[in-house]
Amino acid sequence: MKAIQVHQFGGPEVLQLHEIPTPKPGPGQVLVRVHAAGVNPYDTYMRNGTYAIKPPLPYTPGSDAAGVVEAVGEGVTRVKSGARVYTARTVSGAYAEYALALESQVQRLPDSISFAQGAGVWVPYGTAFTALRHHAHARPGETLLIHGASGGVGTAAIQFARAMGMTVFGTAGTVKGLDLVKKEGAHQAFDHTKSGYTDEIIKATDGRGVDVILEMLANVNLANDLKMVALNGRVIVIGNRGEININPRDLMARRATARGFTLWAATENETTEIYAAIGAGLENGTLRPIVGKELPLKDAPQAHADVLAPGAHGKIVLIP
Ligand code: NAP
Repeated sequence: MKAIQVHQFGGPEVLQLHEIPTPKPGPGQVLVRVHAAGVNPYDTYMRNGTYAIKPPLPYTPGSDAAGVVEAVGEGVTRVKSGARVYTARTVSGAYAEYALALESQVQRLPDSISFAQGAGVWVPYGTAFTALRHHAHARPGETLLIHGASGGVGTAAIQFARAMGMTVFGTAGTVKGLDLVKKEGAHQAFDHTKSGYTDEIIKATDGRGVDVILEMLANVNLANDLKMVALNGRVIVIGNRGEININPRDLMARRATARGFTLWAATENETTEIYAAIGAGLENGTLRPIVGKELPLKDAPQAHADVLAPGAHGKIVLIP
């Protein structure tokens, strides 16, 4: 099969297309014929060798695949050959024609969701849901700011939050991104490249501040978030690419909380809830993954450059 492999950590150019043997599912494993693979920012950190998880070389990147079950290993009972599925992590990597996953990592993909959309499910929707439910303890009627709402996690968070009855503000840095944020259901969209936009956000809450902030770039925004959050508010750090100075007094004055998490560390119970929430939302049309760009598998280096560039518009997916 064709697969992208990383033989040494480095820039996008280390993502190389190779012909390697198609894996066989062992006990408890499922082999998925990959129709689309999602590209997530952390794939680039891992490829650089700077991420908390450093896989042994060579490895095939990617945790988010969508496709059809080709074969199942001994003891697999829940998943059948021929089923449409998405993966929530894999054993062998998603940037390939076939991916091995544990039975517990394979979830049903409804017929109404395309494979390209299915490749944008696990990391974006899993992150958005766990941020809102398990970390922010968000409630209907509260005000939410999604600071970076035009990308994979941001658009997923808009859809979840609107469905649960929150008032949603989202930011983006381009006209196309701002249009997407509004189209997906944000009540108001703000341009995070415009000076004074944080004042506009506070004004939109009549000076109260926002109850919950989901932050995609904390090293740039955390200090401002602590000034925009309401009394008893929660700032949830989802993305961060460096250091920042903050004034802890901003938290004290607001009895506010700043909290971070990684989806990787979700507990079994949390993961069960994430699967259930995603499954229901995909089924009933509440969740509609946005595919901004499809590229052939060989263009993985381009996809890694694009996913870090400004101008996000939903997900970037690779088609093997
Ligand atoms: P993405 O699809 O590339 O989207 C990135 C988002 O950040 C876009 O909305 C982008 O807006 C926005 N952004 C860029 N500059 C910004 C700024 N100055 N202020 C606020 N937002 C800004 O990435 P993603 O998949 O949504 O992931 C977002 C972040 O969360 C990444 O850093 C990723 O590594 C992290 N993440 C963490 C977890 C976790 O487990 N904690 C899980 C998934 C993702 P424009 O392009 O319109 O400017």
